[in-house]
Amino acid sequence: MGTTLRTLIFDIGGGIQNDKKFQAIQTGGPSGGCLTTDELDVPIDYDSLIAHGSMMGSGGAIVMDEDNCMVDVAKFYMQFICDESCGKCSQCRIGTKRLLEIMTRITDGKGTMEDLDKLEALSQSIKVGALCGLGQTAANPILSTLSKFHDVYIRHIVDKKCDAGVCKKLISYHIDPNKCRKCSLCARNCPVGAITGVVGKEAFVIDEKKCIKCGTCMAGCHFNAIYKE
Ligand code: SF4
Ligand code: SF4
Ligand code: SF4
Repeated sequence: MGTTLRTLIFDIGGGIQNDKKFQAIQTGGPSGGCLTTDELDVPIDYDSLIAHGSMMGSGGAIVMDEDNCMVDVAKFYMQFICDESCGKCSQCRIGTKRLLEIMTRITDGKGTMEDLDKLEALSQSIKVGALCGLGQTAANPILSTLSKFHDVYIRHIVDKKCDAGVCKKLISYHIDPNKCRKCSLCARNCPVGAITGVVGKEAFVIDEKKCIKCGTCMAGCHFNAIYKE
């Protein structure tokens, strides 16, 4: 108690793997909220975390780096809450499902700006109408990311882009012909046969229509010739 998030993450925890950039820390479990770079010096205690839109909750903490999409993170927690809801009261039983549907729309690139207002209004209504703590705190990850990562929501809705490269419907894989060494490893590993080329002669290319965005090719290429955008 009283230790700052910065000390927890960078001293006690040893920092972020592969020197990735810190993006947020989610405290308190699935019903908690996230704190960002500006809040790294917040001390870990009940009042301070609540003052920053999160909580002690289960006492857990999950650190997100630049490779995490904060909209996807909030959707992930909402899926968990939907699974956990006992169904006794309608605000939680139905409301969280509607929240999940909206979040899915946004990560699929089909969200609208009106969806952001709906998320906010529905979240507040579930908060006051749910019977127990699970429902009352269910929308916290959405409210927290809406307020602290509003630009990331806008990017998904307006530009149809997921800059972290997580939301599958919003990304595509490509091979840089100048870097490709025509080794064919990616084509042999692709589970759906989406990559073609001629060994030693022709740079390999990805057929976007066939690609299921599994990322296997990118992870396996020894020459960093494959990128996603
Ligand atoms: S708020 Fe509590 S009682 Fe109501 S459906 Fe959710 S888990 Fe059940
Ligand atoms: S694994 Fe990399 S270098 Fe080899 S063919 Fe595929 S993209 Fe080109
Ligand atoms: S991302 Fe997966 S499915 Fe798409 S081209 Fe690469 S290996 Fe094939």
